[in-house]
Amino acid sequence: MTLVAVSKTKPTDVIEEAFEAGQLAFGENYAQEAIDKAAAITGAKVKWHFIGPVQSNKTRALAAGMDWIHTVDRPKIALRLNEQRPNNMLPLNVCVQVNISREPSKAGLLPEDLNDFLPLFDDLPNLRVRGLMAIPAPASTVAAQRQPFRELRQLFESSKANYPALDTLSMGMSADLEAAVAEGATMVRIGTDIFGPR
Ligand SMILES: *Cc1c(COP(=O)(O)O)cnc(C)c1O
Repeated sequence: MTLVAVSKTKPTDVIEEAFEAGQLAFGENYAQEAIDKAAAITGAKVKWHFIGPVQSNKTRALAAGMDWIHTVDRPKIALRLNEQRPNNMLPLNVCVQVNISREPSKAGLLPEDLNDFLPLFDDLPNLRVRGLMAIPAPASTVAAQRQPFRELRQLFESSKANYPALDTLSMGMSADLEAAVAEGATMVRIGTDIFGPR
């Protein structure tokens, strides 16, 4: 299980303190803030995860500055990240964002579109597709929270039939961490419960 400490809006001294205490993975969801913080905190072991919406005009900086992008849901963005990932770096790790609760106008592919999307990565050598990410609609009981996470895990498992290298299920935030872990999250993204309210 990987804990991504979501440090959006928090100053770099707070991130440095967490890093010195042994936390290595940090998540940011505003592109410019992510790029600036990654440039400021550069230890060889620190890993930067981008978890916000990716706009075309930010792909170049994100491709060079991030270790992971959790929110790939359009071919155009995948193609740009692949092309703009510097050749002297390892492939960029990506997760495909799925709109698992089928909320209108929310980010992510619909579950039924995943099968047609994954083959795209066969031809993108500078990206390494690692798995799936989702932000389900809020729910008030743990049982209700578990349902969409279970659906994401089932989708992940069926995708592994064709893509056995998939190893990452990025799901769970402060409010639904327990439900996500119970359903098999391999990566959780926690902000408030680590750094306090924003
Ligand atoms: C802000 C954010 C988180 C962390 O949320 P908390 O409720 O503070 O734990 C996780 N994932 C994404 C995509 C976010 O934008």
